Amino acid sequence: MSGTNRYPHVFRPLDLGFTQLKNRILMGSMHTGLEEAPDGFPRMAAYYAERARGGVGMIITGGIPPNVEGGIGSKLSTPEEAAQHRLITEAVHAADPSVKIVMQILHTGPLAGTPACVAPSPVKSRIGRYTPNELDDAGIEKQIADFANCAALAKGAGYDGVEIIGSAGYLLSTFLVRKTNLRTDRWGGPWENRMRFPVEVVRRVREAVGPDFILIFRISAMDMLDGGLAWDEVVSLAQAIEAAGANIISTHFCWHEAPVPTIATMVPRAAFAGVTGRLRRHLKVPMITSNRINMPQVAEDVLARGDADLVSMARPMLADPELVNKAAQGREDEINTCIGCNQACLDHTFGGHQQVSCLVNPRACNETRLKYLPVASPKRLAVIGAGPAGLAFATVAAQRGHRVTLIDAAAEIGGQFNLAKRIPGKEEFHETLRYFRTMIARLGITLRLNTRADAAALKAEGFDEVIVATGIAPRRPDIPGITHPKVVPYIDAILGRKTIGRRVAIMGAGGIGFDVAELVTHEGTSAAVDIDVFAREWGIDFQNHPRGGVTGVQPVVARADREVILMQRKADALGKNLGRTTGWTHRMVLNRRGVQMVGGVEYLKIDDAGLHVRVNGEPKLFAVDTVIVCAGQTPLRTLYDELQAAGVSAHLVGGAYEAAELDAKRAIDQASRLAAAV
Ligand code: NAP
Ligand code: SF4
Repeated sequence: MSGTNRYPHVFRPLDLGFTQLKNRILMGSMHTGLEEAPDGFPRMAAYYAERARGGVGMIITGGIPPNVEGGIGSKLSTPEEAAQHRLITEAVHAADPSVKIVMQILHTGPLAGTPACVAPSPVKSRIGRYTPNELDDAGIEKQIADFANCAALAKGAGYDGVEIIGSAGYLLSTFLVRKTNLRTDRWGGPWENRMRFPVEVVRRVREAVGPDFILIFRISAMDMLDGGLAWDEVVSLAQAIEAAGANIISTHFCWHEAPVPTIATMVPRAAFAGVTGRLRRHLKVPMITSNRINMPQVAEDVLARGDADLVSMARPMLADPELVNKAAQGREDEINTCIGCNQACLDHTFGGHQQVSCLVNPRACNETRLKYLPVASPKRLAVIGAGPAGLAFATVAAQRGHRVTLIDAAAEIGGQFNLAKRIPGKEEFHETLRYFRTMIARLGITLRLNTRADAAALKAEGFDEVIVATGIAPRRPDIPGITHPKVVPYIDAILGRKTIGRRVAIMGAGGIGFDVAELVTHEGTSAAVDIDVFAREWGIDFQNHPRGGVTGVQPVVARADREVILMQRKADALGKNLGRTTGWTHRMVLNRRGVQMVGGVEYLKIDDAGLHVRVNGEPKLFAVDTVIVCAGQTPLRTLYDELQAAGVSAHLVGGAYEAAELDAKRAIDQASRLAAAV
């Protein structure tokens, strides 16, 4: 069956009267960091054009502030600034004239990261750097005029529309909520006054751009704030925005400061779409839904249920620019699925203007720099190790035309991914493995599993080059009693090879220590695959929608009957180096499950009594049944050394190259770059 038949709702055009969207999937707005880069516009042009060629119906750019107080990115408020946007609109329309390109206008208000930031009231956000300056009446009028001016300039630069973001704790949304709007004039106080600013912005933008222009408004359908918007307020705001001239309304969930995950991999797919569905019943204009919709079937199901008219995918378009074409051609098993890890995208954005990319696709935002060009003279390449680095190298090299043999001692591909996929909340890793399995077959890579490579045999086979991606060995700290039967290496714990007792000490609190703590304290269905469990664990009410969707709802967390202590030698807070946008969720989950976190530990010995340590100089016994060792890794390079000695041309990638703080992002990036060059 062709993809267009398999996903009939996805591939039905949407008629907006003055224009048509060719299908129901759009690329949602995603700040890339290129907005501020010196050569950012040509790079953004290439990045968006590649997605346009990939089949998406509409693209929304990363946020552009309408003025200097709106954000520290590259603003659009003058004709000179508009000129560079032409690079983007022309590249997208040249790539596919049927694709609509829409610019997001983002006024970050109190989150602008500049002392010039503004807001309805001088209320500092929990995550903001500065207390915003309170706008007076003239200041409010200026902001509205700047929005209208920015939209008109965007239209002049060739955009098909603009999206106004009215959510997430940015300027427009801070007018709506009592805790950030303390005003008593016509812009504050009763609900009619608090909603006046966003409605007025939409009215004036529509006036500035005329009728035949896409105007999307992004509304906080659930702000996840204690005391946030009530459902009837959400509905009345959406209706007023519609009446003011928006021709599409898009739902957004959660202010950035709210302590609820909404897009991380631990969030079930399409968990929030039902809320869009409830709002859609009150509106005439089409609605966009989003959040953890990462495969065509998920989009199709959302649309078929009537939860939305359009589905926004932002990160999935970083992971695979060709997602829509692959769906249309029935090649969905070739989709490189976004796993919701945030490691190379939002962690970079919120890590302070680092350029965005994608863990599973390092070409994202590097389209002009990292090219996988066909080779004139294919080489015979052997890749040893089918973990993330080996898989990335093999597939990119084979795609370029090299003849690749991939060898692994294990019975299946995946390496450390096979551990990650077993952690509750990390089920998406199965998709990455499916992608690589498919590509190995499609690209004609010779796969030898259950095969231990040796230097002499590789030399005898006469490969042109050998890529050593043999990975890592778990570190075994040199502590008295490390061979005691109660000591379990993390691999055995994750694979279930050893029994784990009721009282557990986890030695090492990096990414894997946290994963193991999650695994051994987990009970029941993973929240990542069950919306009801997820709602209970995070105290969300999707149905009755008390204020903010969270007011008065207590999280209820299932937990295994275990006492767990997670520890490290550093005196720092545990989990400090976990992902910027997701680390807090892991810490919160483990805290709610009663995991004790101890830093500043010196390991003394392990014996029948348990784990003997000194904590801040004080001797202490953790009387545990099991000690799980998650103490990092060391590189496995024996084969590389043997190849060198045998005079075979070899390259090291991934954990075998550098194990310290290795993660899949670095492994895939390094291997893909090598494969692009070899
Ligand atoms: P890691 O993050 O480097 O952590 C290693 C841990 O072991 C640290 O807590 C370290 O803390 C401890 N340690 C190091 N040497 C030790 C020694 N000789 N004796 C006792 N303890 C020692 O490594 P990992 O947890 O194995 O993770 C490997 C990579 O995968 C990391 O880059 C990690 O970020 C990545 N990963 C990421 C995620 C994610 O969710 N983003 C999940 C899993 C893994 P002290 O030195 O303070 O004791
Ligand atoms: Fe998705 Fe992770 Fe890539 Fe971000 S880095 S787009 S979350 S796979």
